Order: sequence, then C-alpha cells, then structure tokens
Amino acid sequence: MTVSADPIARDLRSLIRGDVEFDPVSRRLYATDAGLSQIEPLGVVSPRDAEDVARLVAYCAERGLSVVPRGMGSGLNGAAVGAGIQVDFTRYMDSVLEVAPDASWVRVQPGLVLASLNRHMRRHGAFFAPDPSSENHCSLGGMIGTNASGARTVAYGATKDHVLALDVVLADGSLFRAQPMKLDGDEMSTFFTGPTLAGNAFGAVLPELRANKAAIHARMPRVVKNSCGYRVEAILGDSDISGAAAPSHTALRGTAQGSVEPGLAHLQKLFVGAEGTLGIVTEATLNLVPLPATRGIAMAYFPSVFAVGEAVPGILALLPTAVEIMDSRFLAVVRANDSRVDAMLPEHTDTAILVEFEGRDGAELDEKFAVLGRHLEGTAALKLVRATTAAETEHLWKVRKSAVALMQRMPGPRQPLPFIEDITVHPTELPACVDFLQKLFDHEGVSAVMVGHVGDGNLHTRPVLDPKDPADCRMMQLLYDEISAYVLGVRGTMSGEHGDGLVHTSRIQEMYGEEIYAFFKRIKKAFDPHDVLNPGKKIGPQDTAGSLFDNVRYGPEYGTVPQKPLLHFATRGYESEIERCHGCAVCKSAVVTTMCPVYKATRREHASPRAKANLLRSIITGALDPEATYGTAAVRTVTDYCIECGMCAVECPSQVNIPKLMLEAKSKHRATHRAGPVEILLANAEAVSRAGRLAAPLANRLVNQPLLRRLVEPIVGIDRRRSMAPFARKTFSRRAGDAGADPVAPLVAYFHDLFAEYNDPDLALAVQRVLTAHGLRVVIPPQRSSGIPEMLYGHADKARQIAQVNIAAVLPHVKEGALVVSAEPTASFAFKVHYADYVNSADCSLVANATRDLGELLVRRRLDHPETAPVAGSLRTPRATAHASDAAPDDARPRVRIGYHQPCHLKAQQIGNPAVELLGEIPGVEVIDLAAGCCGMAGTFGMKAGTYDLSMKVGQPLFERVAEIAPDLLASECSTCRMQLAHATGLEAVHPVLLLAEAYGV
Ligand SMILES: Cc1cc2nc3c(=O)[nH]c(=O)nc-3n(C[C@H](O)[C@H](O)[C@H](O)COP(=O)(O)OP(=O)(O)OC[C@H]3O[C@@H](n4cnc5c(N)ncnc54)[C@H](O)[C@@H]3O)c2cc1C
Ligand code: SF4
Ligand code: SF4
Repeated sequence: MTVSADPIARDLRSLIRGDVEFDPVSRRLYATDAGLSQIEPLGVVSPRDAEDVARLVAYCAERGLSVVPRGMGSGLNGAAVGAGIQVDFTRYMDSVLEVAPDASWVRVQPGLVLASLNRHMRRHGAFFAPDPSSENHCSLGGMIGTNASGARTVAYGATKDHVLALDVVLADGSLFRAQPMKLDGDEMSTFFTGPTLAGNAFGAVLPELRANKAAIHARMPRVVKNSCGYRVEAILGDSDISGAAAPSHTALRGTAQGSVEPGLAHLQKLFVGAEGTLGIVTEATLNLVPLPATRGIAMAYFPSVFAVGEAVPGILALLPTAVEIMDSRFLAVVRANDSRVDAMLPEHTDTAILVEFEGRDGAELDEKFAVLGRHLEGTAALKLVRATTAAETEHLWKVRKSAVALMQRMPGPRQPLPFIEDITVHPTELPACVDFLQKLFDHEGVSAVMVGHVGDGNLHTRPVLDPKDPADCRMMQLLYDEISAYVLGVRGTMSGEHGDGLVHTSRIQEMYGEEIYAFFKRIKKAFDPHDVLNPGKKIGPQDTAGSLFDNVRYGPEYGTVPQKPLLHFATRGYESEIERCHGCAVCKSAVVTTMCPVYKATRREHASPRAKANLLRSIITGALDPEATYGTAAVRTVTDYCIECGMCAVECPSQVNIPKLMLEAKSKHRATHRAGPVEILLANAEAVSRAGRLAAPLANRLVNQPLLRRLVEPIVGIDRRRSMAPFARKTFSRRAGDAGADPVAPLVAYFHDLFAEYNDPDLALAVQRVLTAHGLRVVIPPQRSSGIPEMLYGHADKARQIAQVNIAAVLPHVKEGALVVSAEPTASFAFKVHYADYVNSADCSLVANATRDLGELLVRRRLDHPETAPVAGSLRTPRATAHASDAAPDDARPRVRIGYHQPCHLKAQQIGNPAVELLGEIPGVEVIDLAAGCCGMAGTFGMKAGTYDLSMKVGQPLFERVAEIAPDLLASECSTCRMQLAHATGLEAVHPVLLLAEAYGV
C-alpha cells in the first residue's frame, strides 16, 4: 500500500512538539545504519518527550502505520532500518535525568550516548559497565535495543544485566514502567487482570514462560552472551532459567542485586534486546558500577589458536576484565602496516591475546600479572609483554583496534562487510571455531581478519568482498550458510551482541526451533498485535534462502547514473569516494573526535559527515534527482552544514573525503543558482579588501557602527554582532622591505594571504623577521587570496583560476629548492590539499609537497639547524606585561599563561602541535593547549546573520574551556579563529609568531 506522506506530516506537526521531517532528503538520510541494509522510511520524527512518542505511536496504531525507534544508527544488522516512521531519540531526548545519591544508579533518556553518560559519571566515581567499542557513538536506547556488550562483558556482563527499570511506550500508545515485580503477589494478579495492554500482554507471557522453563532452557544456545530472539531467560532471573550453560567464571561483578533476585519477574528485561519490537524506551534506570582504581594490560603470543584455547580457562580463572583474541590474519595485516608491531612479535607467533586486569592499586595488578605469567609458563605461550606506561597501554589497545580500520582503508570495491560479524560460541569452542573459519576462508580464497572477545566466545569477522559483484554476493550467501550451520551445530548464536535486525531475523526459528519461535511470535502478538513497532525484526518470514540481499544498500542490482564532477577526481573516483562511507557513525562521536563540530552542536543527522555521503549516494543512484535536488532547501541543509573544517577526512576510519565531496556539491549548486548578496560579498574577499583599504579611514569608522550595522544586516547579510577587523592604511606588500637576510641563506617563499595583506601587515612583518632570525631568506611572491572563500561558495572556476595563479607564482622558487610557507593555516592547507582538488597537474603536486605551515617549518629548522635557531628570551614588551599574572617577580610560577587554540585546518595537516613546542621555549610562559575542538567561526560562516548563533554554539566547548583555565592571553594561528576567540571570551588573541618575535627580540 502506498501511503501519502504529506497529510501524515501535517497531522503529526499538530500533534508533536518535536521535529517532523518527511522531505525526500531526510528520508534518504535515515534509510541506512552502519550495516548493509537499506529501506526508505515514510518520514522522521525527533520527539521532545515521552508524550510526543505516545501520541505518535497512538496515531500510527490508528492508521496502520509503523514506527522504528532509532538511536545513533550504529547498528550493524539493519535493526533500526524500516519503512515506517523513524523516531530519532538522539536530537532532544539525550539527558541524564537523575543520579542516585550513592551513584549506584542513574536515570537517563534513551538518546544519550554511552560515552557522554560515562564522562558525566566520572565525577561521581562510577560508570555504566557494558562497553561496546562504539561507545562514543551509540546511544543507551540502542544498547538496550540490541543488548549491547563489549570487551569487558567477561567481567561485567551485557546491557541486560544492568537495566533496573524502563519506561516504555507500548503499541497502543500507552506508557508503562517496566520494573521487577513479585511473581506471586497481589500486585501481579491485579496487574494481569487490569485493563492495560501491559497487564494483558505480561498476563499472557509470564505464566507460559514459567510453565515451560525446562523446554526453553533446553533450546537456549550454549553461550555466555546472546542477542538473538527475545531475552526470555532474563525475566525470571538466573535461578529460574539460567543463562544456558554459562561457564562458572561468569559470576559478574557490579551487576545489580535485583537483576538476579529469584521470586521476581524482571519485566524490564523483556524489552532489552527486543530491538524496539515490543515497546519503545523513553527513559531507563541503569545500574552503575564504581570506577576501578587502576587497570593494566598485557599481550601474550601463541604459536597456534589451539594453544590459546588450552591457556584460556586458566586465564579466566584469574578473573580478568577483558581477554581479546587476534588471529594470524589479523596479525599479518597489522604487521604489514606497523613496523613497531612487527618488531614486537616473537618468531612463530600465530595468535595473540590481550589480557586486562583491574586492581585496587599497582601492587594488586603486579600480583595478578605475576600469577598470569606463572600460569602461561605452563602453556605453549611464546611470550607475555606487559604494558608499563600509559603510552604502551594505548599502543596495545590500538593494535587490537587497528586491523579493521586498516582494512576499511583498502582501495578498490572489495571492503570488509558485516554479515557474519557477531558469531558467538561457548568459550571452550572458540579455538575450533577460529580454525573452522580460517580453513573455510582459505578454501574459498576469501580474505578476512578475526578479532574477538575470547572470554565470551564472541568473534568479529568481516570477509572482504564486493557487495555489488554477483559472484561475491553468492560467496556471501555461501559463507553465511556454512558458518551458521556450523555455529548452530555447536549451539552457538550468529548474534552475540549486535541483535538480529533485517540480517538474522529469518534464521531465528532455525536457531531456537519451532516451539520457542512460536512462543516468540506469541510474545510479539501479545505486545504488538498489529505490528506497529519495528516490524520485520525478530518476527518475520523464516525464509533462509537469499535473505541477505533483501533490502540492501548495495547488491547485484546496484547501479549509478553517470555524473560529471566539477572538481578533479580520478576515473570513477567520485562515485567510489561516496561509496567508501560504510555508515559506521564514528563521525557522530559525542566525545574523543574533533569531527564533526557542526553535528556536535546541532545533533542533527543532516549535519553529520555520514549524511553527506548518504545524500550523494542517493543522488548518484538516482534515488534523488540531481537536476531538481542541488538547490533545494533540504539538500542545502545538508551541504551548508559542512563548514569545511577538514577533520572528518582525517578521523573517519575509511578516510572518506567528505569536505571535498561537499565542495563538489556546493560547486554544482552554484553552477545553476545565482549567489545572494552575502555570498557575493564573502566570496569576493579580495575585491572587498581592496575597496576597504582605499576607503580605510572612513570604512574603519563606519564598519562597526551599531546603527549602520543594524540597517545593513538585512541587505548584506553580515550579522550585526560580529566586529569587523579594521583595514590597514598601507598593505604588507607596500611595507615589506629587505629583512637583511644572508644572500646565500636557504630561500622560502612566503604566502602571507589576504588578512595579513590588508588588515594586519604587522603580523606578516613579524613572520618575515622570525624566518630571517632562523637563518632563512624570504621572498614574497605576487599572490592572490588563498581561494578558499571562492571554493566555499561554490565558485569552482574562480577557485581553479586562483589556485593556478598562486601555484605559478611560487613554482619558480620551488623549482630552485625553496619551500613555500604560510602563517595562515587555511592558506597552507589550500596549497597542501585543496589546490589538487581543482588543478590536476604535476606542478600542483610539486608545490603541495614543498608547502609548510610556519610552525612546522620552524620546528623542523630548529631540529636540522640548531646552530641558526634564535634563543627565546622572556616576554618584556607591553603586551606581555599587560597580561602577566600578578605573580611576584621571584615567584617560580610562570608569569604569562597562554591558552593556545589549534585551528582545524592546522590539525587537518597532521603535523603535531608546533606552536605549543615553540611557545613552550619562551621563559616565564606556560602554554596550555585548549584542545576543545572547533571555534565555530570557520572562515566566514560565523559572520553571516543566518549562521552566527550556530557558529557561537559550535565554539561553546572551546569558550567554556577558556573560562575554566582563565589564561592571560590566547594564541592561535588562524585570523578568523582569533576573531572568534576574542569576540566570545573578551581576551586578546594573538598569532603565536608575534610572541616568538618578541621573545627573539626581532
Ligand atoms: C564501529 C562499530 C563498533 C561496534 N562495536 C560494538 C560492540 O563492541 N558491541 C556491541 O554490542 N555493538 C557494537 N556495535 C553495534 C552498535 O553500535 C550497537 O548495536 C549499539 O547498541 C547500537 O546503538 P545505536 O544508538 O546506534 O542504536 P541503533 O542502531 O539506532 O538501534 C539499535 C536497535 O535499538 C533500537 N532502539 C533504538 N532506540 C530505542 C528506544 N528508545 N527504544 C527501543 N528500541 C530502541 C532500534 O530500533 C534498533 O533495533 C558496533 C558498531 C560499529 C559501527
Ligand atoms: S563518513 Fe566515515 S566515519 Fe562517517 S559514517 Fe562514513 S565511514 Fe563512518
Ligand atoms: S569537514 Fe568538518 S564540518 Fe564538514 S562534515 Fe567534515 S567534520 Fe563536519
């Protein structure tokens, strides 16, 4: 049945306080998750509260529509993909609501990201223990939906072991608090006979569950963790239906007492792992665990996977908090890419395991590792290496996590695919299972790496195949069939922690047998008789043939409509760049990453880098019409949200070049759409600067005049609150003289860029003097703007022209051996990275390779030629003394505290943090790296009336960090970052080179 979306959207807008987005672009952005599935939803709703959800579900129930709850969309099996209305909890319902006074539990909304919760709880000395490796980009609602777990499950259990109560919206729109209830008390009988859907449904399910305990027990997989089907075994507690032959070492630490109390029905646990098919979680009360005082890890190397198998029971008896396994293929990939790892591995290493312990203190850890060492001496282990420093610990965990990322960067159409990603067997079966898989992959000539949680018998395996190639698709099906037959044969599960979703649902009956599956169907019928809640998951056709290729984003049928890119991409490079995004949602990380500042500020899927790739894939496949699309408001919401910070191109595991793809999209839009006044103004910075200088005295007086700014804001579109930098009367080019360098000193070509030319010539003069002080000869080539404004506003031809002029200007010097240097990070980034997007020539590469950021050049120069390095003295100038703290002169404390902000375009150059190094050499100065992400200004983004507020919101974490450390002075290389910092904090913000010039006395 085709349903018309418009009237539904209209109805919902009048019913719901949250956002209702039914446009074709939003629907495409929610059509996929991190797995292979794809189904376009009817629309997207971002509710503001439980009442919104209840009204939405009641509306859908009445009209025969369905709802699909969604967290971060990081699931790997299509569990959050469906044709109904997507309910995105991460936009507004993501708060910590209440923390118990003793920090033993917390009440949260479902859209909260796990890492954000744990960061919040750190100050209370507690944490939520289940630890999927997607912790930075998965929500609590999603974790509850899939019964997520991770490396430390061996010690702490899975999500189901830590859920104390859930508020859920049921299929009729009623609200229900699911929590433990006495099995044989009055409360239960009243509940069963009451008029509610909850009472009726549990009234049907619980007696059957109690009556058939033995049969259910007998059909449960023999595994430690399981996300397949419904978690019925958890409802009655371990004493009623055990976790099916869980090994004795799984006495979990820190789990809530209530979670295993006999005589209680843990009603909340039926909803854990149910993928939103029985109820939608609107609030969760979660068990918390005290943070351990200390943790330590070691890596043990073995000659075979079977040698690991023999050693593991003894290791588990020592109660480790994680035991991770890396197979021979994994080690081969890491070895080939990391010489440090290669050197670490003893000869004949086939398999490695990483063991983690927690302890009260270092002495307890030492003792545990000593016992581990003694245990391994009696096994075939080749070597045990303990990480003794934080850096070593980080490196070893990185090794464990690196292979998948390395494989995801592989060029070509074959990519590691998640479809047998979550195999789980009894831990004692794991070595045989690894051996089986290795032999199968060898026999079929398929490459794959295996990592996993050996203590839980959980293996993450991604065969490297092309999902568009019919032969590889046949191979996927073959592997799936062979492997699932093996796994079922040893009473394992295909879904240890990721859920069933669209990928595994058709196999659930095969796994549990007809009887238990029929019980699962009765549960679904009792709770959701009309299939309103996430249909097609858990309960669906049990057709095992070919089910992998129903509703997939790629597949043998996949095809694209040829597109001619305006920027330079290698042959078919445009399409494959888009398709490289596998949807993992890492770019939606709430903490740890710098990407994506706009997503972090808006929490809108549309702002995420992933949305950019999803949008463009929809265009190249013809799902969205390119002709009608580029100029629409819905598309521009996605493209304009990219401020070209460049961070996702660096931090994305697959290194998808989203910023370049967005420049392409902006150019395509501009090719057919005239620019508005503000865009004309900001994209023509050269002409504006020239005019501003000519009218300097008058222009400077008027440019920040409040009344005038208010009047012109609607016409020119520059926000009235933004102060504009004054124009200098005399440009840098006219003031630059001979800095008196040695005529035979090495030459550098200095690209000073527009701001230094027209607004801050003193800065460029200081750069010239500092370079000269380092024994370099400076030439100033004729130059235009860096071209970045033209790129940002989609003027591809103009940007190309500018790039060509600038390349030609520095080329003769580069050919003579000179380096090109700029103190403006955006300019050095344009030379190094962006010019190649517009100009495909050998000269462009030559110039890119010769380009350095100023700090990068100075740090290198000091290392290579210490004899020419100037010695930094104390800051004695009025600038320093004005800002110096009130410390007494003989006080050992630093006199000037500088808060340093590294601009995104410098971070994206991946050259370390040269300014911190250089400023740190100045006596009496303390440099604090603010390390709090993007300032939000993003060139001209923060100047526009329509985006000023968002720009300030993006920079909020940075401004808060400045307030926290209260420095005397701020420093940053980027001219617009300095503008934003000064504007938002009221502190002076200077280029580090000015402080260096003072310190060198030049
Ligand atoms: C790189 C990477 C690493 C991963 N590592 C792990 C790992 O170590 N361990 C692990 O367990 N998983 C892992 N996953 C899988 C995934 O992160 C987890 O399944 C996670 O729990 C999904 O959370 P989400 O917020 O993205 O939920 P989504 O994917 O959006 O949804 C997951 C399921 O929960 C349901 N759901 C969402 N919100 C609600 C709600 N409010 N009420 C009811 N149901 C809801 C959805 O309908 C869906 O069925 C990984 C994924 C990636 C991409
Ligand atoms: S852009 Fe990169 S990080 Fe984001 S979803 Fe795609 S592959 Fe993952
Ligand atoms: S370049 Fe920056 S703003 Fe644009 S999508 Fe990537 S991280 Fe977000």
